[in-house]
Amino acid sequence: MNVFEEGLRAELTQLRAANLYRVRRTVRGRHGVEMEVDGRRCINFCSNDYLGLAGDSRLARAARRALVESGVGGGAAALVSGYNTEHRKLEEALAEFVRRPRALLFSSGWAANLGVLRALLGKSDTLIADELNHASLIDGGRLSGAKYVRVAHRDVAGFERALRDAQGPGVGSRGSEQQTLVATDAVFSMDGDLAPLPELITLCSQYGATLLVDDAHGFAVLGKTGRGALEYFPPSPDSRPSTPDIYMATLGKALGVAGAFVAGSETLIEYLIQRARTWVFSTAPPPALAAAAHESLRIVRSEPERRHVLLKNVERFRTGAAQLGIDVDAPQVPTPIQPLILGREDKVLALSADLFERGWWVAAIRPPTVPPGTSRLRITLSAAHTGSQVDGLLEALAAGLKRLAHLDVAA
Ligand SMILES: *Cc1c(COP(=O)(O)O)cnc(C)c1O
Repeated sequence: MNVFEEGLRAELTQLRAANLYRVRRTVRGRHGVEMEVDGRRCINFCSNDYLGLAGDSRLARAARRALVESGVGGGAAALVSGYNTEHRKLEEALAEFVRRPRALLFSSGWAANLGVLRALLGKSDTLIADELNHASLIDGGRLSGAKYVRVAHRDVAGFERALRDAQGPGVGSRGSEQQTLVATDAVFSMDGDLAPLPELITLCSQYGATLLVDDAHGFAVLGKTGRGALEYFPPSPDSRPSTPDIYMATLGKALGVAGAFVAGSETLIEYLIQRARTWVFSTAPPPALAAAAHESLRIVRSEPERRHVLLKNVERFRTGAAQLGIDVDAPQVPTPIQPLILGREDKVLALSADLFERGWWVAAIRPPTVPPGTSRLRITLSAAHTGSQVDGLLEALAAGLKRLAHLDVAA
């Protein structure tokens, strides 16, 4: 083996020793709540399919209709010859739904965040970011070359200090003024809590900064009509702006498909069409996926009961956990992400394996996905869970935690 591979092997060995090694489990058939995983039946509590739409036959039918009409491949990047009516119709529907002038479809949330940050920021600009932001926002910031200022999680005063420090005369990357962009997850992906969006919107308009909100986990889930974090927070009573300049959400989570979009002003979207490299230089997503996402959006709008059932399940889980003395780090807001932080990697792995043995699938989340010392079960609820499935998981968790305590004593 060559030196390069020796190095890889050594690192893999270290990961294994530190309980940080990761493996995949293979699903057979449709994604959903009841699944066959590695040959056994289990109930899935670690999916982002919050509304139970990923396996919905209506999405598959919409995709099939588009497959018959448009074939499989996008054929080229959207600017060349890959922009299909399915893409256009979806972009228009998304823009209308989130009440922004335009929307631009990306092939993934990763591509959207990298593309936007790299396009909008350069060396002389500043990116101010919550420390628990999604990895794609972190990498997009790095890629842009902008000065990266990390702010403590949800710390409004910290954001204000950073905004004040970022001000100052100087020429920005495009010869205009220096840009300051604040980026935050709306619903933090591993903690389930919410960014202080009204405060950030106000601060950004005070300091002339741009706000990018990544609503991957709020879109279609939060708010009365599912418009996400934009709708969860009531608009400000005065005439201050109550929407971020740049709104981004993914189509692979609650919508159950794949891809992402960025919504904003006419100018922003036109600029991204010229400059977002992950969009310009990447093949357009299959038109059938756009058709499926469009159908999913229609269902999100016409079946609000899915959100109601999801909220009921979240409440049932939180109440049940409290009754059983399970210390879920429940965010103050009812989002479908309910973390049970155990700290140590070995404990989280043991509990996750224990649950899987009994037919409950809850993945162990460890660094670098979460900060060291905060390894956790990230339990996610779905509109497709039944009440008795939620109760069953709670009982299994309580029993598993007891067995874990014995293990701890023995260790
Ligand atoms: C999942 C996620 C992304 C990445 O989206 P993909 O479409 O899966 O690439 C970006 N931001 C947040 C907050 C996410 O949770």
